Amino acid sequence: MKRINIVRNRKILIPALISILCILLLFLYYENNRIRSSGDVRLMLGTVVEITVLGKDEDVLERAVDAAFDRMGEIEMVADRYTGESEISRMNRTAADGQVDVSDEMIEMLRVSETLAAETEGAFDVTIAPLSDLWGFTGEPRLPAPEEIEALLSVVCHDCVVVDYDKKTVYYSNPDVAVDLGGIAKGYAVDEAVKVLESLDVVSGVINAGGDMAVIGKKGDDPWRIGIQHPRDSQELIAVLDIVDRSVVTSGDYERFFFSDDVRYHHIIDPHTGYPARMTMSITVVAENTAVADALATAYFVMGPKKALDAAEHTDGVDVLIVDADGNMTHSDGLSSILTLMR
Ligand code: AMP
Ligand code: MG
Repeated sequence: MKRINIVRNRKILIPALISILCILLLFLYYENNRIRSSGDVRLMLGTVVEITVLGKDEDVLERAVDAAFDRMGEIEMVADRYTGESEISRMNRTAADGQVDVSDEMIEMLRVSETLAAETEGAFDVTIAPLSDLWGFTGEPRLPAPEEIEALLSVVCHDCVVVDYDKKTVYYSNPDVAVDLGGIAKGYAVDEAVKVLESLDVVSGVINAGGDMAVIGKKGDDPWRIGIQHPRDSQELIAVLDIVDRSVVTSGDYERFFFSDDVRYHHIIDPHTGYPARMTMSITVVAENTAVADALATAYFVMGPKKALDAAEHTDGVDVLIVDADGNMTHSDGLSSILTLMR
């Protein structure tokens, strides 16, 4: 057998070193450009919030995710009615006594809420708070007596919340009025988290706050694939949506509910009757803004499939996937090209 000494044989040594160098450079190039995933899951805003981001620099991604969660925590301190120190708790305690100063965040959520209350004929109404409390869906839910519901219908009154958008003050013209931002705060918080991520150069990611989702950019070269849960089986998907840079929010009668005499009572209340809305099982709204999608999902749920589909078809940039009370699915035309039905 012929043995070659590569140290002495420069004809072999130099090409070998060049090859090793090339492999090393290729490896370094690959490592620098490899797409990494970072993310975290936290309990906030009364739900599970999950942020996933993709990018090249893991430290940058981790810092961005932390900053996004911090911002969502700030919104929680504005909008969480179940924390005594939150801004909304203070507003509900004092706004009937006279004008109270409120934050930019509160002003923004009230502005969207007022617009959507008008656009949905009052199906979305943040003054649902006394009825939300009566039904008790965040604590011990119970079926109230019809008289109890009747007695509170007159204080579901979004006109009683007088907002001065220039001075940034709020006044309740009726002492029994209280505001509940549960139908919009998660969406607003998700939008704020998106702004933070984008300001920190994140160009690809998904935020999911218990069914209120926003998608940033693409997942590599493809859209993000967003699964829509079956309203009667949390392990099953009814559809998958291909989403780029849009928000996807689902409201369903399966999120908070109880049964009494085989009737399902859930947390989305028709402000006109005081009872949980009956015509829908779940509705998914796709829109450009998560706060709007959140409020619309709640409002469309109340309005029922027919009116919801009609409203979405007449609203630019808004699409819907609806499961009605009998389990039948419909969707607006705008979803046809991005929707895969799973059943
Ligand atoms: P979502 O899960 O986004 O549909 O919102 C439901 C939450 O919004 C409830 O837990 C209540 O806090 C609040 N809510 C219920 N019904 C309404 C309504 N008709 N308009 C506005 N907010 C509502
Ligand atoms: Mg909502």
